[in-house]
Order: sequence, then structure tokens, then C-alpha cells
Amino acid sequence: MQTKAYAAQSPAMPFGPHSIDRREPGPKDVAIEILYCGVCHSDLHTARGEWAGTQYPCVPGHEIIGKVTKVGSGVTRFKPGQIVGVGCMVDSCRTCAQCHDGLEQYCDGPVGFTGTYNGPVGGGPNTYGGYSAAITVDEHFVLNISHAEKDLAAVAPLLCAGITTWSPLRHWGAGPGKKVGIVGIGGLGHMGVKLSHALGAHIVAFTTSAAKVADAKALGADEVVVSKDEAQMKKHLNSFDLILDTVSASHILDAFTALLKRDGALVLVGGAPTPHPSPSVHALVFKRRAIAGSLIGGIPETQEMLDFCAQHGITSDIEMIKMQDIEAVYARMLKNDVKYRFVIDMASLKS
Ligand code: NAP
Ligand code: ZN
Ligand code: ZN
Repeated sequence: MQTKAYAAQSPAMPFGPHSIDRREPGPKDVAIEILYCGVCHSDLHTARGEWAGTQYPCVPGHEIIGKVTKVGSGVTRFKPGQIVGVGCMVDSCRTCAQCHDGLEQYCDGPVGFTGTYNGPVGGGPNTYGGYSAAITVDEHFVLNISHAEKDLAAVAPLLCAGITTWSPLRHWGAGPGKKVGIVGIGGLGHMGVKLSHALGAHIVAFTTSAAKVADAKALGADEVVVSKDEAQMKKHLNSFDLILDTVSASHILDAFTALLKRDGALVLVGGAPTPHPSPSVHALVFKRRAIAGSLIGGIPETQEMLDFCAQHGITSDIEMIKMQDIEAVYARMLKNDVKYRFVIDMASLKS
């Protein structure tokens, strides 16, 4: 099926209209008309060739909300007309220990999980993501959406920004009695604040943008620290159980490890294209502190997060854009001018 899309043809070329081929649904497939797609900083890293391995043309987008148009004969969980979500993965080996545990993002299969975009497909071009009018996905990787229809655009960012913060918050036990820091108040960070607040932790938001202080409080932060201000940082030395760092660029980690208490963890989810300066080992060994990483989240925990958000009335704070605005939006993301997730109204692609 020929399908309208928006693609980058090289790291330096601006996005433009493009046509891609979507497969007819096989027995286990769900064909989806895309209504909304969130804009993740990973889209920018990938389209601009900031991470190794981008194949062009590149059609990013992995925060997809859409309507089922057709299902294969073996599909049991979805039917035409239903509203569904697709996140960062569209396939994995399904047989390894990680897949059995519902942590498909850590798949040990020959190619790991298949990303919704730029994911390897045997023999063909890499996968194309949600900056497009439609997508066909195996039902295992399709999520059920139970939010109200009026909220659907603001639900799209939960499919990456939501799950990427939910998974480590749950794994490291964010909840009542825990002091949790969220570094970088962009797409991921603002969801991290909302989710950790809903989980009952004491939240401190760290931002380099003084203009975001009031917003961060409104999002649910108990305290907000402008991280460039050393005096403000010092007040929090040795006090955090967990700090989740969502920053999209290289920065000094020691400023945050020093804030962890004994056995605390600094968990990195940001995908900075260049390395962070090497952290101080002394700061780690003297308090048994850890630096760890975390990748998106598995399909079962993504459904758990979506259901939790629907029950607690949680969505993303969004700014709706047209597909044609994507270059201007990337430029704003690079200036940290995000409040707090751009979402593409895919109707604009059809016009
Ligand atoms: P975003 O909306 O652009 O937000 C990033 C925020 O980081 C900015 O708003 C800014 O917050 C802060 N920041 C940016 N440059 C900085 C710098 N030089 N020093 C200090 N702070 C800086 O990006 P996003 O979509 O949330 O994505 C964040 C990162 O996570 C990206 O690298 C993305 O690729 C990665 N990611 C990883 C996963 C995963 O599975 N691990 C999943 C999705 C995305 P303030 O203005 O508050 O300082
Ligand atoms: Zn993402
Ligand atoms: Zn696997």
C-alpha cells in the first residue's frame, strides 16, 4: 500500500514529502491509520545522523496513536475502528529470555528488537515510523488505549516519553518515602515528573532553564532546582534515592552523583550523541552509588503505564503542530524550547 510520509533524505537535507510502501496485513497484523504522532528527540538524533547507522530515506516517529482499519484473520485483541497505540518497537525475536520476560527492548535475538523506525528488516529498507499516514504492525506490539477521545493527541507521547520514564521509575522503586530527581524538563522529563508524582515520591526537578521553574512545579515537582546554580545544588547533597537523567546532550554527571545518598542510583536515559566527561569514581565508591542506564520499556509495562495514566487522568502537555512544521520544531527542540512535547496532527499530512 503506497502511503504518504515525511522523510529526511540525508542528515543535512530538510524533511519533505515522501511515499513509502506499507505491507497488507498478514494473519497477525493490524493496519492502522495514524491520527497523531509525538516528536521525540530520538527522531532528531536519528534523522540528523547523530547516532551511527541511520538509513535514508528516514521516516521517524514512535509515539503513534491511530485507528485500526483492517486486521488479519488471526488477530484476536483488536478490531477495525478501535483506537490503538504503537510505541518504539514493532518486532523482536519473541523466543529469548528477555522477550519471555516481557522486556522485548533488551531482546537477545540476532538483531535485538526492531525499532518502529530505522529498525532492520531482513533484505528490505529499514522500518519507517509514524511521520506517515498509516502503519501495519504485528498485534503483539499494538497497545490498547483507554483514555477519552478528546485526550488522544496528548496520549501519543506516553508511547515513548511515558514508558521511558515509567520503566526506570518502577524498576528503581520510585514511590512514597523516596526522594527522586528528574534532570532535564523536556518531553521525557516532564513525563518523569508527572509519573513519579503520581507514584507518590518526593520530586525535585532539575532544569537549566530558569523559565521552566513554575511549570515544573505545576507538573508535580515538590521542588525545582536550576542546575547551573551551585548553591541550590549544594542543598541537596547526599539526599536522593534515585535521579533520572533525561538530558539529550553531553554534560557533567558528577554534579548529580554527588546528590545521591548511600546506594542511590543515577539512571541515564538521554542519548547524548557525544560522551559525557568521565565521571568521578571516588564519588561512586565512597557511597556505593551507581550509574545505570535504561532503555524505553517492554510491551507489558507499556500497557501497565497506559492503563495507570488513564486511571489517574495523566496525559502529556503538548503543542500540536502540522507535519510541515517539523524543521522549525527541531530547531526549537535544540534550544530547549519544548512545552513539553510536540505532537503532529497527521491530518496535516493528507492536506
Ligand atoms: P527534549 O524534549 O529535547 O528534552 C531534553 C531536555 O534536556 C531539554 O529540554 C533540556 O531541559 C535538557 N538539556 C538539553 N540540552 C542540555 C544541555 N546541554 N545541558 C543540560 N541540559 C540540557 O528531549 P526528549 O525527547 O525528552 O529526549 C531526551 C533524551 O532522551 C534524548 O537524547 C533522546 O534521544 C533520549 N531518549 C532515550 C530513550 C531511552 O530509551 N533511553 C527514549 C527516548 C528518548 P531543561 O531546559 O529543563 O534544562
Ligand atoms: Zn522516543
Ligand atoms: Zn528476544
